[in-house]
Amino acid sequence: MIVSVASGKGGTGKTTIAAALASVWESPLDMMDLDVEAPNLHLFVKADIEDCRVAGLEVPVVDESRCTHCRMCADLCQFKAISDLGRILLVFPEMCHGCGGCIAVCPENALTPGTRELGDVCWGSAGQNGFFMGRLRIGEAMSPPLMREVKACREKFRQGEDRDLIVDAPPGTSCPAVNAVMDSHVVCLVTEPTPFGLYDLRLAVEAFRPLGPPMGVVINRDGIGDDAVFDFCRKEGIPVLARIPFSRELAEAYSEGRVFTEAAPELIPVFENLAEHLRRLGNATTPAMESSHA
Ligand code: SF4
Ligand code: SF4
Repeated sequence: MIVSVASGKGGTGKTTIAAALASVWESPLDMMDLDVEAPNLHLFVKADIEDCRVAGLEVPVVDESRCTHCRMCADLCQFKAISDLGRILLVFPEMCHGCGGCIAVCPENALTPGTRELGDVCWGSAGQNGFFMGRLRIGEAMSPPLMREVKACREKFRQGEDRDLIVDAPPGTSCPAVNAVMDSHVVCLVTEPTPFGLYDLRLAVEAFRPLGPPMGVVINRDGIGDDAVFDFCRKEGIPVLARIPFSRELAEAYSEGRVFTEAAPELIPVFENLAEHLRRLGNATTPAMESSHA
């Protein structure tokens, strides 16, 4: 089962909830940090990173001596990553999505595959559990290809072994967040009971609902706002699975990189209950990716 812990906005405590959830989940499991722009799950779960490798994206390299400037490649590219200026063919690797279309379409074999560095894929362990993460190169704007590399890395390690996975998804509702949750069995949405929390929760529900997996909500910092998030969840038929109180003790634990279930053992039953609910929701579903491949 794949459980994604996501949020419509940053700063809701998504990573700390993911770490606490992992601490009560049946071992061995895998944890994956797909918040590749700012990965920090490894700090909370005290991951031992065994190795990293550079991940790249295939981008075209032009051989000007072969190019006849027919423009077929430039006309094909939907991302304007190739431009034919008549006497010179310009390639903009940072805009390339690595589809390979231009290389395939070139009648002169003037384009060959090169590489643009995306970042690192890292793997290791955290106690009995496996750990995987991506780290986007500074200045790189495209995170989904790196996220796919992290997922592929785990596939290679596990070779079909049936092991549960908890994913720390990137915040927000754009491509990276959708990419992270799209093959999940269940999505755990973390929010806070404030107008900002409600606004971004609404966006997250709109973005993730079409993907298919059931969703449940965790309200973090419960007690600081009002009941609008509850009302929204009730109206949308999304269960509120856990409420984590706002407290100085938990804020200090967060600042020290400690998992909530260690800092406040009274929360262990809360997270065990959350895990049980997520299991039940996830067991009843087939992720969108699987069903679309069926
Ligand atoms: S398709 Fe090939 S030959 Fe035509 S402009 Fe592009 S690189 Fe040049
Ligand atoms: S590989 Fe695809 S995205 Fe990249 S330049 Fe070629 S056609 Fe454009």
